[in-house]
Amino acid sequence: MIKLPPRTGQIIYGPIHSRRIGVDIGINLLVQEGKTCNFNCVYCQYGVTGNPTSYNKLKTGWVKPELVYTALEKELSKLAETGYRLDAVTFSGYGEPTLHPKFPSIVENVKKIKEKYYPNAKLTLITNSSTLKYKRILKTVKIFDQIIAKLDAATDKTFHSVNRPVNKKLDIQTIINNLIGLSSTVEHLIIQTLLFNTINQSLISNTSVEELKALSEAICRIRPKEVQIYTIVRAPALSGVKPASESQLKELKKYIDERCGFEVNVKIY
Ligand code: SF4
Repeated sequence: MIKLPPRTGQIIYGPIHSRRIGVDIGINLLVQEGKTCNFNCVYCQYGVTGNPTSYNKLKTGWVKPELVYTALEKELSKLAETGYRLDAVTFSGYGEPTLHPKFPSIVENVKKIKEKYYPNAKLTLITNSSTLKYKRILKTVKIFDQIIAKLDAATDKTFHSVNRPVNKKLDIQTIINNLIGLSSTVEHLIIQTLLFNTINQSLISNTSVEELKALSEAICRIRPKEVQIYTIVRAPALSGVKPASESQLKELKKYIDERCGFEVNVKIY
């Protein structure tokens, strides 16, 4: 099976086989029509962000926590009954999950449900790393067995061109510093970097030598447990955005290996 995104309105999706996570059940807290995100990445597989928002700004339209618990309990109990193997229960879905106003309490309750049926499955978060400056989010992400955090650029110009944050004042050095802080307190931080090329003159790709070097330096400062480098496999949000070549993915790995001075587990997908 390949990992397909949830349908709009779908809270629990899967089980699906992800190359990077294994067999997992996905939790989608962002069930409105159109993606809810504080980024609008040019390569996003969910298309252009339909509900752009910043942290704590969108007050309505969120999925009710009780619906998450009911749907998850139903799915996990059904799978456990049949002896199905599950590697992870993952917060991902149609946008940035940490934007949900009830994210901390939802995570705590989801963890309890997961423990009941699949104690060995990893509670996993896929995040765009932008909300780690908020204490309640930082405290909550530490509950996860595995945090997969996005870092596609290490310079502001490329960050704003690639990830297009709703908050134009958001700077990549703050995000990198927050990841450094998180990494020093958890053992399970994975940095995920998507590289791409572009044939659209108005867009900046993140595969220039300067950007790859800056990225590798940032990653070395973060000291994650693992780095996952990959490229586009589905239709991107903007036309003119193209997959990076295998040699470009390997080039980033080479810079990381050369620069860090300690062993980093770098995987290319
Ligand atoms: S952060 Fe994720 S969901 Fe949001 S626009 Fe970027 S790729 Fe899409």
